[in-house]
Amino acid sequence: MTVEDKHPHNRLLAEEVPGNTMRRGFILILSSPSGAGKTTLTRMLLQRHELDLNLSISVTTRPRRSSEVDGIHYRFIKQKQFEALRDAGELLEWAEVHGNFYGTPREPVEQILDLGRDVLFDIDYQGTQQVKAKTGIDAVTIFILPPSMAELQARLERRAEDRAEIIARRLAEARNEIQRWTQYDYVLINDDLQDTFAALLAIIEAERRRATRSREAIGRFVDQLLA
Ligand code: ADP
Ligand code: 5GP
Repeated sequence: MTVEDKHPHNRLLAEEVPGNTMRRGFILILSSPSGAGKTTLTRMLLQRHELDLNLSISVTTRPRRSSEVDGIHYRFIKQKQFEALRDAGELLEWAEVHGNFYGTPREPVEQILDLGRDVLFDIDYQGTQQVKAKTGIDAVTIFILPPSMAELQARLERRAEDRAEIIARRLAEARNEIQRWTQYDYVLINDDLQDTFAALLAIIEAERRRATRSREAIGRFVDQLLA
């Protein structure tokens, strides 16, 4: 089995650029204030298997919600375990968000990127800053905004997964988070879900075709073209 067979998006590039088998993978970061819709959009992206996106599973000290499964949505760990991972340098980034600790295990991400595949991160603006500083163009960052604060509150209440005081805290913190939009490559206002999803797909498609990710392969093709 060739790399292209295993990874359909590489096959796409291989067809366009004869001789190419690889491009560099990138980290796709989705951030938003709680309730704006990034979990929903992440789920929709992962359901499109042909996109071959791999979700990074964060570790967190937050209590598990009833709808969540350990090892799928997060790895739920104790504060002491979190500190051990962090202090051993095993987290690519970490942050305290809404009073809990969250972090991205480094090794699985590096393994996927090395294969020329892309990794999806659902992390906050503090983690985004750290990843962008470490990886440069290997990270593509997208910020999701709600259409209004009233709708954000309605979505948090409709989700009905957090207690009232937690919802109130998340809404208050949303005002601070929303102002971080300037540090992102793309900003999407998630009013109509299908429209937002279509915009996300367009961003992924374009970012996969960035020449800087396939320099060697395109270089080889151009050498043949001009020979
Ligand atoms: P986040 O992960 O950003 O905290 P969720 O994806 O859990 O947010 O979305 C919060 C709630 O809003 C969920 O009940 C979800 O079904 C709903 N939702 C998400 N996007 C939209 C949208 N575009 N229109 C209406 N409801 C939405
Ligand atoms: P929730 O508790 O609603 O799942 O997530 C709360 C916030 O933490 C969200 O903004 C989410 O993006 C962020 N988050 C989740 N995992 C990580 C992580 O590994 N690192 C960072 N920096 N933020 C994370």
